[in-house]
Amino acid sequence: MIHLQNIRKVFNAGQPNEFVAIEGVHLSIDAHVVTALKGPSGSGKTTLLSLLGCMARPTSGRITLKGREITSLPERFLTEIRRETFGMIFQQFNLIKGLTALENVMLPAYPKGEKHAVLKRRAMELLALLNLAGKALVRVEWLSGGEAQRTAIARALINNPAIVIADEPTAHLDSALSLEFMEIMRQLKADGKTILIASHDPIVHTSDVIDRMVEIRDGKIVSSGDGA
Ligand code: ADP
Ligand code: MG
Repeated sequence: MIHLQNIRKVFNAGQPNEFVAIEGVHLSIDAHVVTALKGPSGSGKTTLLSLLGCMARPTSGRITLKGREITSLPERFLTEIRRETFGMIFQQFNLIKGLTALENVMLPAYPKGEKHAVLKRRAMELLALLNLAGKALVRVEWLSGGEAQRTAIARALINNPAIVIADEPTAHLDSALSLEFMEIMRQLKADGKTILIASHDPIVHTSDVIDRMVEIRDGKIVSSGDGA
């Protein structure tokens, strides 16, 4: 589904603080597989996720998504592909304060210009699915950590993405909520989603929801979990 070929990502290229964050990465992500990206802090997990999710461009190398070369596409195409294909769950949840849970869930769908009523119904269904129906009209700053996390998951699903990407999703959750998060991932997997989770949390690594473990260190893949 996603192929990375000889990917290199350099920050501050040509400057004294030049930093090679990703180097020589070859990686293929197959559809319907749950992949965990494991590695110490600073190893390049977030950078690699942002490349896989078409949120950043590599300095060199090729990325193809569903057979289509995307590295050279203009930004406006990339934005659309991103919105259609990926649902993102961030470590800090990145919910917009002052808005309700419902409004936050609806937000990523606004650029598609759907009817408000249709969108609202879909958002309410997702909130209900994540056991948040009663919290739809609550401003997100009043939600508990677990509720905020589930709101962020609902928001990631609003455009029905094929691929769900989560960056350190359990970092701010206790172990019970972390296990619950993995159970939600199990459901998404059963629904046919392709899932990528960057994490250094053993609860994630030991979960039987994970099909494949990719290990990264100093920007290089040290184990790609496919015997290659
Ligand atoms: P991880 O998610 O595994 O903790 P990151 O991908 O966030 O690692 O970062 C990998 C390395 O790249 C770190 O050393 C980080 O400081 C560096 N880095 C990340 N983003 C930038 C940036 N925008 N500019 C400069 N350096 C960066
Ligand atoms: Mg990170």
